[in-house]
Amino acid sequence: MRAITLRAALAALLASSGAAHASPLAEAIDDDYPYLDALFRHLHANPELSLQEVETSNRLAHELEQLGFAVTRGIGGTGLVGTLRNGDGPVLLIRADMDALPVQEKTGLPYASTRRQVNLEGLEVPVMHACGHDMHVTTLVGVARRMVALKDQWRGTLLLVGQPAEEGGGGARAMVADDIYGRVGRPDHALALHVTAKYPAGKIAFSDGLMYSSVDTVRINVRGIGTHGASPHQGIDPVVVGSQIVLALQNIVTREISPIEPALITVGAFNGGTAPNIIPDHARLDITVRSNSEDTRARLLVAIERVALNTARAAGVPEDLLPEVVVSADGSPTTTNDATLAQRVRAAMRAGMGGEAFVRWQQTDMGAEDFPDLVSVTPPIPSVYFEVGGTSPEKLASGQWADHHSPLFAIEPEPSIKAGVEAMTLAALDLLRK
Ligand SMILES: [Zn+2]
Ligand SMILES: [Zn+2]
Repeated sequence: MRAITLRAALAALLASSGAAHASPLAEAIDDDYPYLDALFRHLHANPELSLQEVETSNRLAHELEQLGFAVTRGIGGTGLVGTLRNGDGPVLLIRADMDALPVQEKTGLPYASTRRQVNLEGLEVPVMHACGHDMHVTTLVGVARRMVALKDQWRGTLLLVGQPAEEGGGGARAMVADDIYGRVGRPDHALALHVTAKYPAGKIAFSDGLMYSSVDTVRINVRGIGTHGASPHQGIDPVVVGSQIVLALQNIVTREISPIEPALITVGAFNGGTAPNIIPDHARLDITVRSNSEDTRARLLVAIERVALNTARAAGVPEDLLPEVVVSADGSPTTTNDATLAQRVRAAMRAGMGGEAFVRWQQTDMGAEDFPDLVSVTPPIPSVYFEVGGTSPEKLASGQWADHHSPLFAIEPEPSIKAGVEAMTLAALDLLRK
């Protein structure tokens, strides 16, 4: 008797705690979830590399066309924009990146990827959605479905963007270079999200300002004078010069940048030489450079060139063989939320989902995004980028979770997709309010 009462009380408690969160929007997303789950599983099992998101782009286009969006394809390669006009009003852009990574999936999930793809260098590689962009595309479709169903509650124009090549492929830049805004119109606001393994599944996190660091890629071609490994005095050893440059670069961060200003220089690749007894005539350093401000970004890039040239000079490298320092054109500025817009979006999400839907956002590394390339046009488009947690609280507590880009990366699709659709739809409804 007592046991039954307890069970009943517990059931009532669970039902009421569920009911406290359930809004008509959340209920509609619950009802739509089986459709979105099937789409997520399909996308997860069929990932495609950056700039080769052909099937993903076609599927997204098809989903949007079915809902009545006019889809413009082939913007910056596989990029697309679905446009839904709903009377006069503001124009809102929502972006989802579509690309996956050359990673062999080892999650053991029933919908794990076994796909392989020939990359742009002609090499066949395994492919995996190891960053969660499958969740982003699914969420975009979920938002499209809700916004169509709620068409009488908003006015204006919705631009839904499927972006190629976020993972270092310059997809956002390519869409801008391909005149995205000339072709589909310029938005008044832009939104994007990322699922994040480090936060509890379904929780929303973002700041009123900085979200991600700037990123630049620098290559240093160190040139020396090749000779026999047994007679180094007859040449100039670029492996030694390159090594000195690697160490000297770290002094830029510790000695030239304020200790309370984040800055990072990582030499991720150092290639040079072919055999133990040959001093080669060149070596190559590939470097990622990160910062949280344009000022620090510029200082780092200037300092890297100065350090490379002068370290080589100190080693006796002649002027005509000084290192070539090449800053790649595909760098991105910081991802920084517009403060006013962020506060407005947060208020809309809070009104719909409650304060418990949020966790405090914190920058914990110097990750970067190319979303700012989509909005750092002239004049800039005010934007908000938010994160949606993707790991169950139990896994977070036990530490049994894999980070992004890991072969074991596996988010909890249901809570993260539902929260992503709800948060994004609430933001869109508010920004396109009648
Ligand atoms: Zn990634
Ligand atoms: Zn990502």
